[in-house]
Amino acid sequence: RAKAEGKGRYRRFESWMDHSLAERRALERDLRLAIEHDEIEMYFQPQFACDTLQLTGFEALVRWDHAERGLVPPGVFIPLAEECGLIIQIGRMVLEKSCRLAAAWRPRCPVAVNLSPLQFRDSGFLSLLSSILESTDFPASLLELEVTEGVLIKDEEQALGTLRALKELGVQIALDDFGTGYSGLSYLRSFPFDRIKIDKCFVHAQEHDAGTQTILEAVLAMSKRLNLRVIAEGVETEEQLAMLRMQGCSEVQGFLLGRPMPASEVQAFLMSTMDDGERYGQPAPALV
Ligand code: C2E
Ligand code: MG
Ligand code: MG
Ligand code: MG
Repeated sequence: RAKAEGKGRYRRFESWMDHSLAERRALERDLRLAIEHDEIEMYFQPQFACDTLQLTGFEALVRWDHAERGLVPPGVFIPLAEECGLIIQIGRMVLEKSCRLAAAWRPRCPVAVNLSPLQFRDSGFLSLLSSILESTDFPASLLELEVTEGVLIKDEEQALGTLRALKELGVQIALDDFGTGYSGLSYLRSFPFDRIKIDKCFVHAQEHDAGTQTILEAVLAMSKRLNLRVIAEGVETEEQLAMLRMQGCSEVQGFLLGRPMPASEVQAFLMSTMDDGERYGQPAPALV
């Protein structure tokens, strides 16, 4: 049945194997309504310095608060939005909301926003970003854009051009999900990243896999030489944190230290982790 609807549809069907066609149609229709009704919300997960556990920033993570289904995770609706093109609209909302919300936090604090490859390649993206930075009055230097290697592989020249233009606007760029896919080490040298995010699979695997541990150590050593900051994602246990510290990882993010929280809770969280108002945070106990 899916095949009869043409090649595009067929591919979409493949990646939505676990949902029936009718279910996916319903979800797509609901997603359009959600955009109209402003049900797309931002959550923010704190990030910390590995050694002092001071707060260093937040990652913006999108949530869809569906009236009947409840909170729909991005793992479900982002791939759908990418396949039906709604990602451009959603991505614009995500960027606008993240900057507008973060612009109000005191003290000011860095925020990282995820970009979908389609958004990154969209010809209107650079001017959209400039106008959002201007209208929200959020400093470009505090905005980090997270891209995956998916934005790099299709057309390296074009990707490089866009990344350079982004650097010129003054934003930071992170390579997300490092350690999954191909993640060629040469990428780290060829593209102007400011930091890399070690994927959680990597963080979890190294506990019982010496090979992964060796690779991680090599990645950390190389990043240091290339002047790249490294943040490890998905840190869930004290053991993982201790190991990353020992290996010289600079920052961490994960359930151990803080789950994604609704935007309404961020300012209070910031206040509770700051001491004299000039620094982002103070040592762990209050945060854990
Ligand atoms: P990501 O960018 O790698 O985000 C990290 C994901 O790991 C988040 O899942 C976060 O909640 C989860 N996480 C954080 N700490 C831990 C931990 O200690 N253990 C485990 N098991 N997981 C942890 P989330 O929010 O469900 O997002 C999933 C993915 O969806 C993101 O992966 C990102 O690729 C995508 N995504 C999220 N928000 C956006 C967005 O605004 N735009 C785009 N384009 N993609 C987004
Ligand atoms: Mg991310
Ligand atoms: Mg990631
Ligand atoms: Mg990801």
